[in-house]
Amino acid sequence: MKTKSSYFCQSCGYESVKWLGKCPACNQWNTFVEEIIDKSTKTQNVWKTSGGKARVAKAQPIEEVADADIARVLTGDTELDRVLGGGLVPGSVILIGGEPGIGKSTLMLQLALKLKGQKVLYVSGEESESQIKMRATRIQNDINPHCFVLTETATANIFKQIEQVEPDLVIIDSIQTLQSPFIDSTPGSVSQVRECTAELIRYAKESYTPVFLIGHITKDGMIAGPKILEHMVDTVLQFEGDRHHIYRILRSIKNRFGAAAEMGIYAMQGNGLREVANPSEILLSERIEELSGIAISATLEGARPMLIETQALVSPSPYGTPQRSANGFDTKRMNMLLAVLEKRCGFRLNAKDVFLNIAGGIKVEDPAIDLAIMAAIISSHEDIAISSKICFSAEVGLSGEIRAVNRVEQRIAEAEKLGFEQIYIAQGNAKSIDPKKYQIEIIPVGKIDQVFSLLFG
Ligand SMILES: [Zn+2]
Repeated sequence: MKTKSSYFCQSCGYESVKWLGKCPACNQWNTFVEEIIDKSTKTQNVWKTSGGKARVAKAQPIEEVADADIARVLTGDTELDRVLGGGLVPGSVILIGGEPGIGKSTLMLQLALKLKGQKVLYVSGEESESQIKMRATRIQNDINPHCFVLTETATANIFKQIEQVEPDLVIIDSIQTLQSPFIDSTPGSVSQVRECTAELIRYAKESYTPVFLIGHITKDGMIAGPKILEHMVDTVLQFEGDRHHIYRILRSIKNRFGAAAEMGIYAMQGNGLREVANPSEILLSERIEELSGIAISATLEGARPMLIETQALVSPSPYGTPQRSANGFDTKRMNMLLAVLEKRCGFRLNAKDVFLNIAGGIKVEDPAIDLAIMAAIISSHEDIAISSKICFSAEVGLSGEIRAVNRVEQRIAEAEKLGFEQIYIAQGNAKSIDPKKYQIEIIPVGKIDQVFSLLFG
């Protein structure tokens, strides 16, 4: 057998015949590694050659094509089902990325144990069967009897076991441990990860079996190995959170079968992950007394409304250049909001340090959080607390105008449900809603300074 090698960028998967110092695709330095590949057999496929029952593709009238939504399987994990866009789609391949130790294996093992009446094959390249069993009994005492575990890294053997077990769902922990017989390079290398993923995708599509792939990501947020993995699979989920913090967030980054940006929240406990059905409860910290620098925002993550606490600290800067830092919020956007406060409202913040924090360790991209952030900053600056019964939901523009946000009624309803007494929204939003429908007092505002005179006099 003639072997051939190629150089791959370990960061983005770019292939080159010779070593390069700088990757032309992702511009990173020293990322090229030589990997031995065997082109002559690369196009073959373990799944097919091992004689699995493949589905023969045939053209069919569009009317007769089964609707993916109808065929979806609910996993029993409501957070996961929501993030997937309403359950598992047959034949879909889902990548779950996250830093090592964050709980990806726990999430997947829990799913395998929970899926009653479904045959699940849990393949681990990192733990022995007995280690998995130990973990399983800690998570759940009532175990799915159709859950099969396998410690294996060779795709050829995995496909043999798949033929025997005929699972309804396959979980691979992790894609970086797998090894295809057609590629000589080490597990976790770009060409290896790419080939193993391709084999599993072929299996998933031909057998209509959904496959979950666990992928470890590096510190800078990349799925270790190739970025191309993200393009190959149908759905990319990210499992994030601070290892020392109990909350975990499952986010969809890409989803061919549903909306991206959906989010699920879990709490990590001694016996596994618990779904958090009401996220507002955890995102609002318990306050005994009212403190300055805190404002609550009614935001929307995916389709779910939640109330989130924003905290700001504004203090005189001891150095020439003021410090600006934001946790869970885009720093550029914070600087823009600070510029609006300076220019349009006359607050002198250029000699102040400004620190911003979103409670619960989550990242918010919903622009409706703008108004709460500005209110928190001015509350800290003026040292005047905002009542804990007030919340905000509006975007703020460059001239200090308060802008309408989408699905404001859902936000108002959530705020009312949680016992808030007032909500500040944009005039543009207020036109379309009937305030008599709500118990909560709706305060429409047009300009940012109007908000401050109502709040701080
Ligand atoms: Zn690259």
